[in-house]
Amino acid sequence: MTSAPKKPSADQTPNEPAESPPVQEQSLDEMLAKAFSVRTSTTPAADAPPVESQRCGLIAIVGKPNVGKSTLLNALVGQKISITSRKAQTTRHRITGMRTVKETQFVFVDTPGFQTRHGNALNRSLNRTVVGTVNDVDLIVFVVEAGQFNLADAKVLALLPEKTPAILLANKFDLIHRRAEIAPWLRDMQERHNFAEFVPMSANNAKDVDRLFGICEKYLPMQPWMYGAEELTDRSDRFMAAEIIREKLFRLTGDELPYTSTVIIDKYEEEGNLRKVAATIVVERDGHKGMIIGEKGEKLKRIGTEARHELETLTGGKVFLEIWVKVRSGWADDEARVKTFGYE
Ligand code: GDP
Ligand code: MG
Repeated sequence: MTSAPKKPSADQTPNEPAESPPVQEQSLDEMLAKAFSVRTSTTPAADAPPVESQRCGLIAIVGKPNVGKSTLLNALVGQKISITSRKAQTTRHRITGMRTVKETQFVFVDTPGFQTRHGNALNRSLNRTVVGTVNDVDLIVFVVEAGQFNLADAKVLALLPEKTPAILLANKFDLIHRRAEIAPWLRDMQERHNFAEFVPMSANNAKDVDRLFGICEKYLPMQPWMYGAEELTDRSDRFMAAEIIREKLFRLTGDELPYTSTVIIDKYEEEGNLRKVAATIVVERDGHKGMIIGEKGEKLKRIGTEARHELETLTGGKVFLEIWVKVRSGWADDEARVKTFGYE
């Protein structure tokens, strides 16, 4: 049993930002020691605290593609809600996940990678999403790969408003073997933006992720929760089904498939404990269709089977999944299809 709910207020909270000097005035060792000393227990509270001691806020996780944003979000929320892949650019929707720890509800916003290479309509809309998101949150977590900063990172950083506190999250810290090498990089980063805090960590390390809750908490306002304590996402089952199929698709086709391929859910029906789902994978070219179907339809079958298993875990029921592959330019003559059954 934890102690009686305390009444956090801006000036009583541990780790209050005003207690520590700004990031620039600390030495690297002090900062590393401080960042690694924060401890948080993520055990859920037995009862919801009274409304007047609830804390709740929005956190935007931003950064260029492939720095680990989706991995981080999934780890924070404790369930797979955003797809991850070695291939950049697989997250196309703004996904929110939430996690409630003791008095605080963290509402996370994942943003698609800021596009620097192409200027097409899809990319322009992704960029608008990033800008819209960061102006609307209590805290920004700017994710970079520890020790690295290039033009793509700079373009995302340029979008961050001065008024919103931003944490510099140096991810993939496990890949840094000599910590001393980080010092000049960190000094350089501090000159680029007035970061409130520096957090070296690895999104795939559970302890680091727990620590991040304790670090982010103090930036969120005292206000009633927006969601129930147990809620993890506000996305529909239908949306999750599309995301899961997309993840399997990109994982199993490797780097060959362009990220412009999309998944459309044509049908999502619930009959008691059974879900009947029909989906279409839409690709740009005939060649892409071949890649997805694979030799004798093997690849498409695997995509279907793996997606179905995951959907069954997510929904706790049986799933009947039917997947079609269509080429955008020639819908009529495309017959590739896989059906996978909930009973095998
Ligand atoms: P996003 O594009 O920013 O959402 O990046 P993802 O979350 O999809 O991650 C991109 C790749 O980096 C994946 O292969 C992850 O497994 C990997 N990755 C993420 N976090 C870490 C980390 O802390 N350490 C290491 N070594 N790899 C990571
Ligand atoms: Mg992602």
